[in-house]
Amino acid sequence: MSQPRPYNFSAGPATMPVEVLSEAAQEMLDWQGSGMGVMEMSHRGREFTTINEQALQDLRELLQVPEHFKILWMQGGGIAQNAIVPLNLSCGDSANFVVTGSWSQKSYQEAAKYCRPVLSAQRNPDDLEWANPGTWHLSDTAAYTHICSNETIDGVEFQELPDLLALGHESPLVIDCSSHIGSRSINWNLVGCAFAGAQKNIGPAGLTVVIIREDLLGRALATCPSAFNYSTVAKANSMFNTPPTYSIYMAGKVFEWMKRQGGVAALEQAAIAKSQLLYNFIDQSEIFYNPIDLAWRSRMNVPFFIHERAGGQERCNEFVYLAKSAGLLQLKGHSSVGGLRASIYNAMPLEGVQALVEFMRHFEARS
Ligand code: PMP
Repeated sequence: MSQPRPYNFSAGPATMPVEVLSEAAQEMLDWQGSGMGVMEMSHRGREFTTINEQALQDLRELLQVPEHFKILWMQGGGIAQNAIVPLNLSCGDSANFVVTGSWSQKSYQEAAKYCRPVLSAQRNPDDLEWANPGTWHLSDTAAYTHICSNETIDGVEFQELPDLLALGHESPLVIDCSSHIGSRSINWNLVGCAFAGAQKNIGPAGLTVVIIREDLLGRALATCPSAFNYSTVAKANSMFNTPPTYSIYMAGKVFEWMKRQGGVAALEQAAIAKSQLLYNFIDQSEIFYNPIDLAWRSRMNVPFFIHERAGGQERCNEFVYLAKSAGLLQLKGHSSVGGLRASIYNAMPLEGVQALVEFMRHFEARS
């Protein structure tokens, strides 16, 4: 490539490791001498079975998923899980929701079609009382408790998962970890079910990963569509319907890449370094700011804004335009909050964040 590749800060579908893209390009027409591209293979054939089993094994190893959890490949993304979780786990009873931003708000609203959602806590930027799980109103009759462990739009991340049992509460914790899976370890003792759309830290859109404790299978409502029934999918080893084969193959390549980087522990250190670099710059800036409390800032999604006195939203629009010409793509904030957002997932190299910070420094100096 003659031109250097731009850095892409999209929240998802997001940047992929270049090595993964070029390996896939090489294998596009013929996967390992099989005479077929991966998109053309039967999902039940020997070749795809090899790809699939390796991907599952690597994901289990990377996230240290215990044997008593099933890993399911599903479709429909995080949005579909907002219905699929209550269909499978609520038994039509109540479920607790901790609303920390846009995605948990959506989960809370959708669940009302299938169960009785309880608003256990709601993030309040002006009063951090909600941040202490001891203050949450956890209903004893709830079938599960839902959190979004990283809010992609708001840039709010749980640095530790809540220990519900230690709070004397027994319902299993469900985590929507779509936008930070693979960037930090997960304490599976605290979790009953985790789900994630792939298109941020794992691979292409179209694949949803569900990791569920085995004893939670078999509880689905009779109305749950079979293709969305966790037990049905688990029994069929995620082949109840045709899975998104190419996305699984690409996810498998990302898992191999993650292992080559040193696994989740190394990626977590990299995420700390990248996010600190960006937050440190924002915090000393005269024009940029990030509104999230330090203890809740996301390492993956960094929303930032320009003060009104420095031009506000109009300046943000100019920033996005100029950044694009400088090879820094997709920095526009989510339409619901405006401003700017840099998503710095595993595949974003440190050099990309350094280039962004340099660009911000120049932009500010020209103000
Ligand atoms: N949850 C989170 C945390 C997300 O970031 C997103 C997508 N940005 C979703 C759920 C919804 O995912 P999808 O669009 O794949 O359904």
